[in-house]
Amino acid sequence: MHSPRPSNEASVTGKEKPPPVRGARENAKSWGGNDIRETFLRFFESKGHRRVRSSSLVPHGDPTLLFTNAGMNQFKDVFLGLEKRDYTRATSAQKCVRAGGKHNDLENVGFTKRHHTFFEMLGNFSFGDYFKKEAIAYAWELVTSPEWFAIEKNKLYATVFGGAEVAPGTTLGVDEEAKSHWLAQKVPADRIFAIPGLKENFWAMGDTGPCGPCSEIHYDMGSEASDLGHGVTAPECKFPCDCGRFVEIWNLVFMQFNRGESGKLTPLPKPCVDTGMGLERVAAVLQNKISNYETDLFQPLMKRAAELCGLDLNREEVIEEGRGGAASLRVIADHARATTFLVADGVLPSNDGRGYVLRKIIRRAVWHGRLLGSKGPFLTEMVVAVRALMHNAYPDLFGPSASHLLKAVNEEEKRFSHTLEFGNQSLVTEMHRVLFDQMSEYLDADPSRLEQVRRRDTDAQGRSKSGTDYALVKSVFEDGADAIRLSDSSRLSLAQAIRAASGHTFIFPGDRAFWLYETFGLPRDFIEDVVRDAGISFDDSGFEKAMEEQRTRARRQSSFKADSHLITEKQAHFRKLGETFKTEPDFYFGTSAKDCRIEAIILTGGARRADTKSGLVNELKAGESGEVILDRTAIYPESGGQVADTGAFYDNSESRELAEVKGASYPVAGLIAHKVVAKETLRVGDRVAVVADAERRARIIRNHTGTHLVHAALRNILGTHVKQSGSLNAPERLRFDFSHFAHVDAEELRDIEQQVNEEIRLNTEIETNVTSLEDALASGALAFFGDKYPEHNVRVVTIPDPRAARGFYSKELCGGTHVQRVGDIGVLKIVSEESVAAGVRRVEAVTGIGALEHYQQQAQVLRQLASQLNVGEDAVLAQVEKLSQTAKQLEKQLEAQKRKGALDQLDELASRVQTVKGVKVIAAEVENVDREGLRQLVDSLRQKLGSGVVALGMPENGKVALIAGVTKDLTAKVHAGKLIQALAKQVGGSGGGRPDLAEAGGKDTTGLKMALQSVPSLIESLL
Ligand SMILES: [Zn+2]
Ligand SMILES: [Zn+2]
Repeated sequence: MHSPRPSNEASVTGKEKPPPVRGARENAKSWGGNDIRETFLRFFESKGHRRVRSSSLVPHGDPTLLFTNAGMNQFKDVFLGLEKRDYTRATSAQKCVRAGGKHNDLENVGFTKRHHTFFEMLGNFSFGDYFKKEAIAYAWELVTSPEWFAIEKNKLYATVFGGAEVAPGTTLGVDEEAKSHWLAQKVPADRIFAIPGLKENFWAMGDTGPCGPCSEIHYDMGSEASDLGHGVTAPECKFPCDCGRFVEIWNLVFMQFNRGESGKLTPLPKPCVDTGMGLERVAAVLQNKISNYETDLFQPLMKRAAELCGLDLNREEVIEEGRGGAASLRVIADHARATTFLVADGVLPSNDGRGYVLRKIIRRAVWHGRLLGSKGPFLTEMVVAVRALMHNAYPDLFGPSASHLLKAVNEEEKRFSHTLEFGNQSLVTEMHRVLFDQMSEYLDADPSRLEQVRRRDTDAQGRSKSGTDYALVKSVFEDGADAIRLSDSSRLSLAQAIRAASGHTFIFPGDRAFWLYETFGLPRDFIEDVVRDAGISFDDSGFEKAMEEQRTRARRQSSFKADSHLITEKQAHFRKLGETFKTEPDFYFGTSAKDCRIEAIILTGGARRADTKSGLVNELKAGESGEVILDRTAIYPESGGQVADTGAFYDNSESRELAEVKGASYPVAGLIAHKVVAKETLRVGDRVAVVADAERRARIIRNHTGTHLVHAALRNILGTHVKQSGSLNAPERLRFDFSHFAHVDAEELRDIEQQVNEEIRLNTEIETNVTSLEDALASGALAFFGDKYPEHNVRVVTIPDPRAARGFYSKELCGGTHVQRVGDIGVLKIVSEESVAAGVRRVEAVTGIGALEHYQQQAQVLRQLASQLNVGEDAVLAQVEKLSQTAKQLEKQLEAQKRKGALDQLDELASRVQTVKGVKVIAAEVENVDREGLRQLVDSLRQKLGSGVVALGMPENGKVALIAGVTKDLTAKVHAGKLIQALAKQVGGSGGGRPDLAEAGGKDTTGLKMALQSVPSLIESLL
């Protein structure tokens, strides 16, 4: 494999002692990350290499690759001989991202020393120029020369390919050639290791193509870097032990052979070199650190993250227990780097592909920030910090292509914070409820378990890090104190102690996760992350099952919607008709056409006549509905976002109306079907006059041309990333959906409106012409690629503007109908702007008469408001403010009343006690309390009773909340969880809980009274 792999790293364990001074430190120079990058490039420049800029993180022309992940990506075609450059030696510092693939789990990042999503790869490349000898000599000089990195030679090891079967039947031996070159550099023979096998020291571009052996340089970090304690708590180890002590810093790939289809290797006429040195690793070495995160590439970012979360980085590092605050800070630092560079390279958060990986990275970062207590949009601030740290090496971070960087990150951060706001509390509550139930089950099963857990926990936590208050735990689990007293954090620490002491695993049920996913839109992988970070396993198969059940329900509902049999039959007719002729579109020239021949009629609307089985008929009688195909028509069929015309069929003298036309469509390309209701008999072969509703058409085309203007203005003002993702041109208004990562603010909307109206006043004449797709695109026409266009005969609609350099304001591929002169629109007014999906905005606007109606309506609303408020129109705002103040005060008073009401209910409820076989029972409906109030009421009532059963219910936002409490002395007979299950069934819900306290929800408010009335008999049956 090629270049340092961030995988297979053992996790960071415990606190790290400051390492003793090692070889690198003796080199007096202090090496910053930026110096290292620059020195590397300068070294190779001095050896005749061309310094080549990093390519984008989005690989061009390589669909097999999600992100650029190695320095050689941008040279792939050069290596393959498909492309020639004017240099044969190159060096680069390449931005790389590894995330989202199978081999790269985001979850390791931050919890190990050397996992990153974003990293930089330093490399030198020879395209048929030098080979092994020079590559090895250069590498050794840069790494060890006192002039350059000056790493002590006795800390270094070299590896060479040790032989393997590289293709079926073809075996290569040890790379003696490379070995001899290392020896020539005076590397001692006992420090050169031949590693056999394909995994470590053999590289191939694919199953066929260039391949060859590798040589690597490894650095000895010393025994304190061993994750297994080799040389500290366990015996010392030797190279190449993979305990973390020996770190690969440079990989030299020698492209020596071509592997053919048959697997046969033939030597390449011009062998090549491709090397990769991970900047973060070499920085750790030169800065005398064990973890990459301790280098100056990360520390300023972690400090900034701590600051933004109100923490002290040094303190977090000290108290870290492998998963503590410092781990979250590392996650944030890493993810902020990846986010900055991905967005700057044009990736935007979305639901698939690269955008989805970015979205996951941003969400993880935001979540970890939340964990540490961040409030505001802190990831955006982190991006600012990354940019400040990196822009010298990557000036593009301030370039025009990155102008949207902060905006895009901020928008996604806000979006996710919003989701969290609604779902997060429910997730946390649910998680703690699950934990508590499963802990109860575990501890109740064997009374000695709690004591075992306590003993092991206190032994293990000699430094008294334990957050568990065992006296409190005991009082809850053994003596029946109320579970509410156990805080969230003590639940977590107790769960952790149980896990550590017994290996017991807690599982987050899949159906609960699915509920959170469905109800609050919390992403599944996010839920997984959160519960896993709390040490709870995620129930994958349960989630899948819940999802599948949901799909089945949805399918069942939709299968009644359409008579699929009829649809296919009709489609078959249309397809057959479409083979023989096409309807001529006369709608481009006006709103009426004479002498149009009826070519076919299909009976619709459920009527089935004896003379037809298939729906295809020869005539349509008065009163019947059908679809009529004509050879020509003036009716515009719905397409390209423009709604269909309505109108009528007349006889050719236009004196008798024959049918009403309710709409039209293209059932297959080129064929127009009119939806009609016949007023007189229509026969195949008849000739009719077709008349579209001209007033309605006029409104539609004003909106359609308006849409083209709005599209152009959006691109002028917001940027050319704006792409149409849908539109609607109706008589009442126009709607335009487009890709954009941020809210369009009021000022931008005003600019758009002004620019559009200026074009309208210019009143140029609209041009349409028909040309080939290729010519249309070459002339600068915008195409909406959600649609398929024919190769030839595409219509181009141009709104000219003599002031523009290109001679036009707008040019689009469009099959719709338009006004003659732009001035026909009159005026265009934007009436709304909103988000319709992630990264998709929608504007709506009105034109012409519609705009006038809009103004009139608004004026009337204002008049009515003023009259209602009994003030002048200019005083409306002040009056409304005054009223809203009053309303707020009243709400506060009402809140206070409610709280008092809940307390008042207590006595009233207590007085409703009844006795069932000697057990005191209260079952009642309450109102005006929240969930927390409900729990407190149950608690207070249990205390008042001393011994008894309490069941309360209340309607809540159209649903039902139920709670049951049983005093400890009765739980052996009456199990609150079972009682609540029986009650929940009666209100169409489900629930459960502990023997002494259980909650449930239901959908059927009408069943609440009956359910509560059934409590005494339910209890009676249990006693
Ligand atoms: Zn070891
Ligand atoms: Zn159009």
